[in-house]
Amino acid sequence: MLLKVKDIPEGGLRFSIKDKRRSIVYGERNIPLIKPFSGFMEINRRDGGRVIVEGSFTVSLRLVCSRCLEEFEYTIMESFRDVYFPSSFCFDHGVHELSKDDLDVLYYANDEIDLSMVYLEKTYLSIPMKPLCSEDCRGICPICGKNLNYGECDCNKRPVDPRWQQLLAIKEKLMKG
Ligand SMILES: [Zn+2]
Ligand SMILES: [Zn+2]
Repeated sequence: MLLKVKDIPEGGLRFSIKDKRRSIVYGERNIPLIKPFSGFMEINRRDGGRVIVEGSFTVSLRLVCSRCLEEFEYTIMESFRDVYFPSSFCFDHGVHELSKDDLDVLYYANDEIDLSMVYLEKTYLSIPMKPLCSEDCRGICPICGKNLNYGECDCNKRPVDPRWQQLLAIKEKLMKG
């Protein structure tokens, strides 16, 4: 969704996000969307070619839990307010002249801004490095591979190794004196 900056009217633009994509590419992965991107955006042009892009969006992704390896729905809801400067701005003014608050300013080139990148970038930043289906996901048993969220497995109840059993018997004897 490319927007020509010169096409932004005096009073600004306001519209709903209508994005039909059913998956997003994230690194090497293709993440399916359970609910597509929706939300709204408001765009205003200011002096010096500055463009204010604000709004909010929501999207639901299908992620894989890093502990139990099951798929789960991960919803992102974010509001944003970005300031875009024409890329010529940093050459004219020198980056050092920007105040600390401007450190996360963005730039656009060729008089256009890719509006879908506004929410795509924020989505990429919101995807956890190690997604969890829930904070207290119990993961899978490293021995039998059972998903422990559905109940215990028998691995912990196995009889003690016979060599240990001998030692335990000796220990018991010693304790008894
Ligand atoms: Zn899990
Ligand atoms: Zn097990």
